[in-house]
Amino acid sequence: MKAVQIQENTPLAGSRVGLQRHYFDGAFRESFDGRTFETLNPSTNEVLAQAADGGAAEIHAAVGAARRAFDDGPWPRMAASERATVLRRIAALLREHAQEFIEYEVLDIGLPIAQMGGLAARAAANFDYYAGVVSELHGRSFQVGDEFLNYTVRKPIGVAALIMPWNAPLMLSTWRIAPALAAGNTIVLKPAEWSPLTATLLARVLEQAELPVGVFNVVHGFGESAGAPLSAHPGVNLVAFTGESSTGRLIAAAGAATLKRVSMELGGKSPVVVFEDADPELAVDAALAQIFTLNGQRCTAGSRLLVQRPLYDRLVGAIAERARNIRVGDPFDPRTELGPLIHPEHHDRVLGYVQSARDEGASVLAGGRRPDGLAAGNFLEATVIGDVDETMKVFREEIFGPVLVATPFDDEAEAVRLANATVYGLAAYVWTNDLKRGHRVAQAIDAGMCWINSQNVRDLRTPFGGTKQSGIGREGGDYAFDFYAETEVIHVALGTHAIPRLGIPDET
Ligand code: NAD
Repeated sequence: MKAVQIQENTPLAGSRVGLQRHYFDGAFRESFDGRTFETLNPSTNEVLAQAADGGAAEIHAAVGAARRAFDDGPWPRMAASERATVLRRIAALLREHAQEFIEYEVLDIGLPIAQMGGLAARAAANFDYYAGVVSELHGRSFQVGDEFLNYTVRKPIGVAALIMPWNAPLMLSTWRIAPALAAGNTIVLKPAEWSPLTATLLARVLEQAELPVGVFNVVHGFGESAGAPLSAHPGVNLVAFTGESSTGRLIAAAGAATLKRVSMELGGKSPVVVFEDADPELAVDAALAQIFTLNGQRCTAGSRLLVQRPLYDRLVGAIAERARNIRVGDPFDPRTELGPLIHPEHHDRVLGYVQSARDEGASVLAGGRRPDGLAAGNFLEATVIGDVDETMKVFREEIFGPVLVATPFDDEAEAVRLANATVYGLAAYVWTNDLKRGHRVAQAIDAGMCWINSQNVRDLRTPFGGTKQSGIGREGGDYAFDFYAETEVIHVALGTHAIPRLGIPDET
């Protein structure tokens, strides 16, 4: 394992960022009682920033601002093309400030800077893309005989609560903010408490883009004290949540009283299924990239490697060898491939999974420990665990860290059975040179998204989301408008038609 030491001149050493305020009703604000919480730099575990600690009162104020902006403000009433112009302005500003966003995100969550360029570009692309989609959004029309024309229109819904995780805050929040705004809704964003920085920066950019007051609001705070009142607030119409499946259950229950529309992007335990006839070199590259980029904290990570038995030892051996060479350390160093985990608690949790694999009889083939020379920060070596069977905890539960578990299979039926032996169904990856088998297996796996002979390459037009406990609903492309917009059908009579005539006096 190559440890990339933290240099003295890196922005990591001793970095401190100012107070992260809430943003609502068009102004940056502290909590009403001045309460704050500390966030840590995951590379050093030094205090990085104080953030305003929001609770029910700040949530109520932010929802009130969003409600007024929706009920009385210009945003939902603008032509879609005018909203698109603002979204394009936001995209341009995101590009202009990309370096600042990148540095904040690296400080806040420790993603390697070499991987951040793509994420910042995606954040801007999300706004440009939804500016295009909303400009071309169209309804359907139904001619009903000669008598009627029915047509559909898309309308904004109201106040959208966006509750976000810490693993890629800028990219994931813009993925939700862009379609929510494009459809004409107003927003209250609750960033994760472990990663508040880019949300505040985003509020500055959206203000600079001249979004009307109250359309975009941010409240920082913890899940129980800020997220829970937001998901239950009667002024909120829809909740878009990205995070753990267990939190999703609480949010769905909180919204049930007022029947909120929910979209859930939740956890995963996605299989990478490699058949004997696959191209092994490509499969090795993709398997490594799929689990060890984004510090392994990726919802669509290919975290379970299922390999057909004749290829198992060779393929898993090659992956373990490459994993041992992965450069772990300072995320500001462009050579770094794997940065720290988000928080000491999460580091302990992931190490607990590695220990459980040892206890249950699996073999740690690479990594599994803190790298030498990186005593501070939440660093963990790229870890590969072999001889894992489907009864083990590391096979069944989402680890959300740089830990790949490998299991052999004998034939196609067993591959499909093992791939589906999980409560999750987010993504899947199938490697085979048998065209028919590739399609067959991809369709037999219960997943929202499957890639054949490919790593996770996304196109913004395609649906994104999971089955089973990985989510509810689809976003991406115009699928997002099934969630962020209401569909109304208008029935128009084109001439006269038979109408039952009630209350006519009897002539006899
Ligand atoms: P988390 O569920 O702990 O937290 C997510 C957000 O929910 C945070 O803002 C948190 O404050 C808030 N929250 C916590 N309890 C709440 C409550 N009772 N009511 C309302 N809000 C509450 O998730 P996390 O640890 O931040 O993120 C990691 C998880 O996110 C992983 O399971 C990962 O797979 C998942 N994820 C999924 C996708 C996807 O698109 N499917 C993308 C990224 C991450």
